[in-house]
Amino acid sequence: MSAPTDAQRMEKIVSLCKRRGFIFQSSEIYGGLNGAWDYGPLGVELKRNLKNYWWRVMVHERDDVVGMDGAILTHPAVLKASGHVEGFSDPMVDCRICKAHLRADQLVEKKGAKQCPNCGGKDFTEARQFNLMFETHVGAAAEESSIAYLRPETAQSMFVQFKNVLEVSRSKLPFGIAQIGKAFRNEINPRNFTFRSREFEQMELEYFCRPEQGTELLEYWKEERLMFYENIGVPRGKLHVLTVPDEERAFYSKGTYDIEYDFPFGRQELEGVAYRTDYDLSQHQKASGKSLEYFDEETKEKLVPHVVEPSAGVDRTVLAMICEAYAEDQAPNDKGEMESRVVLRFHPRMAPIKCAVFPLLKNKVSLVAKAKEVVALLRPEMTVFYDESGAIGRRYRRQDEIGTPFCVTIDFETLGEKDPARRDTVTLRDRDSMKQERVPVEDLPVILRERIR
Ligand code: ATP
Repeated sequence: MSAPTDAQRMEKIVSLCKRRGFIFQSSEIYGGLNGAWDYGPLGVELKRNLKNYWWRVMVHERDDVVGMDGAILTHPAVLKASGHVEGFSDPMVDCRICKAHLRADQLVEKKGAKQCPNCGGKDFTEARQFNLMFETHVGAAAEESSIAYLRPETAQSMFVQFKNVLEVSRSKLPFGIAQIGKAFRNEINPRNFTFRSREFEQMELEYFCRPEQGTELLEYWKEERLMFYENIGVPRGKLHVLTVPDEERAFYSKGTYDIEYDFPFGRQELEGVAYRTDYDLSQHQKASGKSLEYFDEETKEKLVPHVVEPSAGVDRTVLAMICEAYAEDQAPNDKGEMESRVVLRFHPRMAPIKCAVFPLLKNKVSLVAKAKEVVALLRPEMTVFYDESGAIGRRYRRQDEIGTPFCVTIDFETLGEKDPARRDTVTLRDRDSMKQERVPVEDLPVILRERIR
């Protein structure tokens, strides 16, 4: 059962993203470029936190995975061998009434007939295959021999560089190569905000193994990846594992799971975890004529490794985190009256700004100076935002709306004016519980580090 869609909630999220600087339409002042998005000051922080955390758990905290960063421009031979030139396409139809190009397999049926989402028309051309790759030319001459492609996935460079990485890392099976980077697909109908874009980022791991380990490792990686989402604030209850049925799976795959999330626009894929057998390495070995075999020193046997691939979308995960975090509740204003507030309940480890620091009054030099000292103390460890304008309640509200988990206020007690015992203590306010605690300034780095890691 798919979750009900909620168009109104999605509209609010899109508008918040623009208003507070998470995501803007690309080339907006020229009318926008369909399927491309720009991340603003807060969006870029959120995205970096996600990518850094993925890299931390997938590469740095493991002995068996190394990273790489491949080129986006790709030799056509690579994508011929992988099957993309021939077959990386979606079925497309044209609406005969409004001329819209539409993805044939995503047309919604109404009263037994497929309908055009633009004009409601029911008259379509025959479906034809549309290749999703962006073609370009390398060098000055635009001719057949200078064609190159923008990569449609990061995976291929990891297969093509398999031997080089294996040699330099001296890895033993099973081991993985990880990569985060841009990918490009000329999607027929980009939609649902950043969910389906023409330019996007992927976080992919190719985990090479012996053939007999593949099935077990598919299960292992599915579980690892589910845990990852929980650790970034997407609860298990909102995730669904779809076992891709035989007829929808690539012919070479011995098992594929889609990890899906209940977005406000419906249940959709966040990540695919696929057991791809030895298909990719074998194809490249055949096409290039270069050995991509692994030599097992114990058994003295040569083999083409099998691979399990968890392939996640950065933009889709960022969007899931924002959708999951978005909430409206009640909070007291400066007069103690309850008001509605918008809050992004990001997991602290993902929040773009970790801590906001406020002097109680902006025209009191000693408060401002102390607040700036606190900023300087925290800045080496985390993203900090200094704000001195407006009532404290308003400042909290602004931080709630961008998901800052902690706010620190410097008041007269911090200066020791009321009670010397409270000198150099501040109030630390929690975004979700709105509770305040009094803590010594010198303890702040340790307390916060513990909560955001
Ligand atoms: P879909 O069926 O939604 O088009 P896919 O199955 O083709 O996705 P994969 O080829 O498995 O996607 O790519 C791996 C991941 O890359 C996806 O799970 C998704 O997170 C991300 N991704 C793929 N296409 C796009 C896109 N057009 N925009 C944003 N992210 C994408």
